[in-house]
Formats: sequence, C-alpha cells, structure tokens
Amino acid sequence: MPFSSREWHLAARPVGEPKPADFSFVSTTVPDPGPGQVVVRNDFVSVDPYMRGRMNEGESYIPQFELGEVMTGSAVGTVFASQAQAIPVGSTVTHFLGWREYALLDADALQIVDTSLAPASAYLGVLGTTGLTAWAALKDTAPVKGGDVVFVSGAAGAVGSVAGQLARKLGAAKVIGSAGGPAKAQRLTEHYGFDAALDYREGDIGARLSEAAPEGIDVYFDNVGGDHLDAALATMNLNGRIALVGAISGYNATELPPGPAHLPLAIGKRITLRGMNVGDHAHLADEFVPQAAAWLKDGSLVADETVIDGIEQAVDAFLSLMRGGNTGKMLVRLQYS
Ligand code: NAP
Repeated sequence: MPFSSREWHLAARPVGEPKPADFSFVSTTVPDPGPGQVVVRNDFVSVDPYMRGRMNEGESYIPQFELGEVMTGSAVGTVFASQAQAIPVGSTVTHFLGWREYALLDADALQIVDTSLAPASAYLGVLGTTGLTAWAALKDTAPVKGGDVVFVSGAAGAVGSVAGQLARKLGAAKVIGSAGGPAKAQRLTEHYGFDAALDYREGDIGARLSEAAPEGIDVYFDNVGGDHLDAALATMNLNGRIALVGAISGYNATELPPGPAHLPLAIGKRITLRGMNVGDHAHLADEFVPQAAAWLKDGSLVADETVIDGIEQAVDAFLSLMRGGNTGKMLVRLQYS
C-alpha cells in the first residue's frame, strides 16, 4: 500500500556557494510498484561535486536539476517491493534516484551488486564511478607509464585518493598529491602511500610542486583546475599528459576564473590535455571492479568513506563536501525506525 518517503528538492538556483535555503525537505507518497517495477529503500546516497553544476541553469555535461523537483544522484539500497521477476525483494541494487528514502524504479534502471565482493557502500565509491574515474583517467585519458612522476590534486578525496594508489599500481615511480590542511597531507603519505604531499593552503602550489618534483612531472590528474592546473603545466616534462577530470576550485565561481597563465608551455613541451567523462568508460568496469575488489581484500588498495547519518543531513553533507569536510568518499547513510 502507498506510504510516505522524504526527499530533497532544489528550491532555488544557488549564486556562488550553495546555502541551506536553496534546498527543501519534502514528504511524498511512494506508490506500489507496477508490472516490471520495484521500490528500493535507499541505504546510502551519494553527494558529489558535479551536483553543483546541475544546480545551475543550463546543461553541464549532465542535465540540470529542475526547480521544485526532487534531485537525483547515485544510491545503493535494498529492494523493498518488487513486481519484476529478475529483481527479488532483498536484493542490493544501485541506481540513480538518490536524495530520497524510497525510490520507485523500472527494473532496467537498476543493477544488482555483489555484496560478497565488498560492502554495498563501496559501489558508490571505489567500486562505482569514483574508482572507475580514477582507473579510466590513468589508463586511457592520461596513461601512466612505468617510471612516470604523477601529480594528483584533490588527493585526499574520493577520486584522488584512489587515483594516487592506482598510479603506483600502474608503474609510477613517484606519486605526489595535494590536499587542504596538514591532517589530509599527512594522510596522503602515511595512509595512501604518496611519496610527497602538498598542503595547498600553505602557500604557492607552483613553487611547492617544483620543489617536490625537481625532475618534473609526466602525468597530472586534475581534480581542481585553477592554480593547480597552472602549477602542473609549469612543472610538466616533455610529452606530459594531463587528464582534465574536475575543476572544483571554480565550481562556485560567479565569474569565469582566469585561464592558466602557463598554457603556452604546452606547445613546446608537446603536452596533451584531455578532458574525460567517466560515462564514456563504462566498458572498463568489467576489468576494474573485480580487480579493485581483490586489491581491497588483500589490503593493497585503501578506500576511505566519510559517512553522515540521516537523509535529513544530505544537504549538510553536500555543503561539507564542497568545503573539504570529507576524506575519501562522502556518503549519507539512511536509517529507518
Ligand atoms: P572529493 O574529492 O571527494 O571532494 C571534493 C574535494 O574537493 C573536497 O574534499 C576538497 O578537498 C576539495 N576542494 C574543494 N574546494 C577546493 C579548492 N578551492 N581547491 C582545491 N580543492 C578543493 O570529490 P570527488 O567525487 O572525488 O571528485 C573529485 C573531482 O573529480 C571533482 O572535481 C569532480 O567534479 C571530479 N569528477 C569528475 C568525473 C568525470 O567523469 N570527469 C567523475 C567523478 C568526479 P580539500 O580538503 O583537499 O580542499
């Protein structure tokens, strides 16, 4: 029988940094599933930096959120009611109707996941698009070769912390990471195996990067853009490769940030700058997921989560993520009485 569920709507398009008043928390009714449909009770929902772009008017690389409507995003949950033979009640599934407690879905809009490989939440992080983004960027977009020096920005975050470890597995001789604050910088070297860590809040990232990499860098995994991208261009070796994965330093900007001043160096150094969208690399999941699950099991890959409890905290979790409140993947865990 239909029952109620709580969900987050976009109430206003943020100007600059989003604020709580840009969102509204709404109660709604979940109908019974029709033929071929299921109702999923979400256990974890993901909050991600790309959602900031979806709050703006106009398309980013994914359609905008509509004003006054429930937001979407990755989630993992348990099938609660089913009218689809292939998806029995009790299955653990991933889908794209996050930001809510219960979701009504067609069976072809969800995937059953194997919780014997890793806990369900891992499918929103290291075994989901987070891990796949890191893998695809280092395998395809800016391929790492044996002996390379690799620089990863946003290195204590979900994608960056995995990328640093995968760069090493792919043969990098030296892996340098940047993150905000001394505790995160320490975690990069002590926990994720980076050779050097730069706390970008401590001053000029360009000077600090060239100090950490006197031999230059061969691959830059860009999560941040802005001054980090400029520093990488200035430090890059001949035939260097840059994967343009994210540019979070500008996501709340109200005016276009200036372009990287060192871009002309890309000419003489024959640097490749290549944008990537994980959606183009779904085919790599078949090789990556079992491999990453095996590395998680043998302890050679570490994936952290920062978990905030309660669907009512989802906006706070998102705002905190955008300010660096997470280490590893930021997740919201849902609880039901
Ligand atoms: P995340 O790194 O876990 O979280 C975002 C982090 O960004 C924060 O923890 C914060 O860490 C950092 N940050 C915020 N403002 C910053 C600033 N002004 N300068 C430097 N760092 C700043 O998020 P994620 O999900 O792993 O995503 C990382 C990047 O990858 C994002 O840019 C995202 O858009 C991108 N991405 C792209 C794709 C794709 O297909 N292209 C897919 C997934 C993610 P600090 O405390 O270190 O500042």
